[in-house]
Amino acid sequence: MSVSSARVRAGTVFDPSGDARQRKGRRRVPVRPSPAPRPWLGRLAVAATFTGLAAVVILGIATETRTELRLPGGVATFIGSMTGLTGMYLALVMVLIVARIPPLERILGQDGMLRWHRRLSAWPLSLIAAHAVFVTIGYAQAARTGVLHQLNAFLAHYADMLAATVGFLLMVAIGIVSIRALRQRLRRETWWVLHLYMYLALALSFAHVIALGPAFVGHPLTQVLWSVVWALTAGTVLVYRVGLPVMRSLRHRLRVVEVHREGPGVVSVVMSGRQLERLAVSGGQFMAWRFLARGLWWQAHPYSLSAMPQPPYLRITVKQVGDHSAAVARLKRGTRVAIEGPYGNVTGHARTNDKVVLVAGGIGVTALRSLLEDLPKGTDPVVIVRASSESQLVLRDEVAELVRHRKGTLIELVGSRREIALHSQGLLQLVPDLLARDLYTCGPPGLVEDVVEAARSAGMPHHAVHYEVFSW
Ligand SMILES: Cc1cc2nc3c(=O)[nH]c(=O)nc-3n(C[C@H](O)[C@H](O)[C@H](O)COP(=O)(O)OP(=O)(O)OC[C@H]3O[C@@H](n4cnc5c(N)ncnc54)[C@H](O)[C@@H]3O)c2cc1C
Repeated sequence: MSVSSARVRAGTVFDPSGDARQRKGRRRVPVRPSPAPRPWLGRLAVAATFTGLAAVVILGIATETRTELRLPGGVATFIGSMTGLTGMYLALVMVLIVARIPPLERILGQDGMLRWHRRLSAWPLSLIAAHAVFVTIGYAQAARTGVLHQLNAFLAHYADMLAATVGFLLMVAIGIVSIRALRQRLRRETWWVLHLYMYLALALSFAHVIALGPAFVGHPLTQVLWSVVWALTAGTVLVYRVGLPVMRSLRHRLRVVEVHREGPGVVSVVMSGRQLERLAVSGGQFMAWRFLARGLWWQAHPYSLSAMPQPPYLRITVKQVGDHSAAVARLKRGTRVAIEGPYGNVTGHARTNDKVVLVAGGIGVTALRSLLEDLPKGTDPVVIVRASSESQLVLRDEVAELVRHRKGTLIELVGSRREIALHSQGLLQLVPDLLARDLYTCGPPGLVEDVVEAARSAGMPHHAVHYEVFSW
């Protein structure tokens, strides 16, 4: 490994040593660290979710009478009503999981949030589908008519049923395109726009629940409670997915200052803004960036901070893999930038041991570069950077300087994935005291999966392995 002295480019302010006091004439303005996650809030959220679910089930059972159950179609209608209530409730829970509520986001991070959203997704959809089937059968039995005839009657004569049916079909369509094999064929933007229709689907189904649900007809109190729960969910989404990003973007007023080449197909974008010392951020976090330029303003893409902010400056480093990342390289000085975040829980807060090992795959080095800068000095970092060729070792000098400054060890692994496989034995050879450390890894999905698997096979506990996949 060669450790060369760091380059400090004219015009940029990013100081690889992480200790700007050593640089003459420039005072480093400290940024606030992101608040530490509070695991008890996660447990509270889980308890609240199950309490809500229990309340919904009790509501469904309490508003059913034995007489109604004994009537023709009574049992099917009851099953339909219960599956509908619980399915809609879980749909709201899914919306809240991805609402980026800050205390939850700090616990789950991007990967945890998506994992839980995907794990849960089959439930609301299956329950709502069961609801449609059972309610139709139940009503058909009660009216002593056929299922198709009943379906027709629902659409033609029942209040809000047409809207609810459209909502249901939208949910099914979104559920189908979310299946991994199909999702991977779609452009991220297409998938994202389709997902926005889920909010419309939920809105369309709201009214029929109040108008027809046995737990609501003639029960003004449950009508009000259900409406409040829905309004709170919608309000939470609006506040955290729209209001907070707009407020932060207006407060910090970021603009592109400089775009410079870091290596083949990789550029760094330096932005400057106001009051960045108020942006609570930790090393390893990312933001969704919306460059307000022609053709780009409508899409926000996640990129990690590749250095700790140095007010008034921020920096990201972007590898060109598609149309957005390629357009980033052509950004003009002065382009306005809107932000969402900072997000992510791959930060120093997650550390459970004094010492750390950081494993970066390709462009995953960006997040680990800022994390390294943010870690306290006694962490004795072992930094493993994996790249397919030497030219792909971006931010190489900066990482080397940060490692040297912290008296750590830098290991560069250059070659194809086949040549340099990261398995548990290999990891233990590189880092003999692996089990006494926390491991952080970021990068493309294949690398992160390999490293996490290797770390766990080597005996590292779950809570000492932290990762961020640079994909969706
Ligand atoms: C938490 C996180 C941090 C990231 N940090 C960096 C970074 O510091 N530097 C860097 O160069 N790249 C980073 N990425 C990856 C970066 O977001 C994608 O390379 C970029 O969005 C690709 O967009 P595109 O239009 O150029 O390419 P596309 O052709 O649209 O996509 C290429 C691939 O990038 C991924 N991707 C596309 N859009 C998104 C999205 N909105 N969210 C997540 N993944 C997406 C997909 O896996 C896709 O297959 C990060 C990704 C995540 C999730």
